[in-house]
Amino acid sequence: MQVEKIKNFVKANNLPLFRIGQIKRAVYESGVADWDKATALPAALRAQLKKDLKILSFDVADIRSSRRDPVYKALLRLEDGAKIETVLLRPGKTWSVCVSSQAGCPLGCAFCATGKMGFKRNLTAEEIADQVLFWYQFLLKEKLGERVSNVVFMGMGEPLLNYSEVVKAVNILSNPDFLGIGQRHISISTAGVADKFAKLAQDLPQANLALSLHNADDEERGRLMPVNKKFNLAALKDALEDYMKRSGREVFLEYAVIDGVNNLPGHVRKLGKWINEFRDHYLLHVNLIACNPAVGKAVATGPEAVKKFAAALRGFNVQVSVRKSLGGDIAAACGQLACENRRKK
Ligand code: SF4
Repeated sequence: MQVEKIKNFVKANNLPLFRIGQIKRAVYESGVADWDKATALPAALRAQLKKDLKILSFDVADIRSSRRDPVYKALLRLEDGAKIETVLLRPGKTWSVCVSSQAGCPLGCAFCATGKMGFKRNLTAEEIADQVLFWYQFLLKEKLGERVSNVVFMGMGEPLLNYSEVVKAVNILSNPDFLGIGQRHISISTAGVADKFAKLAQDLPQANLALSLHNADDEERGRLMPVNKKFNLAALKDALEDYMKRSGREVFLEYAVIDGVNNLPGHVRKLGKWINEFRDHYLLHVNLIACNPAVGKAVATGPEAVKKFAAALRGFNVQVSVRKSLGGDIAAACGQLACENRRKK
């Protein structure tokens, strides 16, 4: 729920203005999921809020937890019946939320379960920001932590195809009146919608940009990610150079290693060369992750194959990190979100 709605509610009901602060504290600090739990407010006000104001802009249909990783996945039903998924995970010491920006996705990447669903619609800024508010409520309720530290736009959908609502959502999330998550802790991951990079540097200069690269050969990348036919590697390089010049920010290149498919010596060479041709190549950082097969014939890539690829890439003077894939047992890892039907818990 956006702060504006609270202000409008208070004004529309001719309530004293101090109620705005009280209601905001109940929602964004105490993380109440139900107005009945906002016991600092008078009972009559709680009853009125219950009637007029929904805390979240969706219903939570299901929550699953991983048995092996600190990962939770929720299935959300939006007001028009569209379904999305959102993930809470703790890759290190702090909690991150992976948000969806679209219901489904029009880009149809070959390895991605969301892409196979097709595209339903763009999410509103409120529907995006509320995913984080929902997990904040969950953390407090389950006594798992006090705050969400990072937000990544790596859930369902291509954020840069829902540009204006994503920018609005980032501004809502970083608003100290909402959850106050600094833009430096928010990452936008794109499959390569290069014509939006310049605007992003201008609109959200503090947020992080991550490009899902996965291959530095145009033909092979095009087979994996059809968006490469519109924005090929040369277009991505131009747009990234411009982005880095405008923002001065580091850019992350996400690379899901698919054993035997994109980790052969020729792939390392092409990737190393592509990166080294950048004017500001020291601002590029490759994040490697073992591929999580969601669709197609790909098989899980072992950690050894990823380590080997990382070492070979470092030979090209490239900054590389190996990221742990979390939540594969509940289909919550990258590329696995697909809103499959499940029994309610
Ligand atoms: Fe869309 Fe991202 Fe999946 Fe590609 S990987 S189909 S951009 S959700």
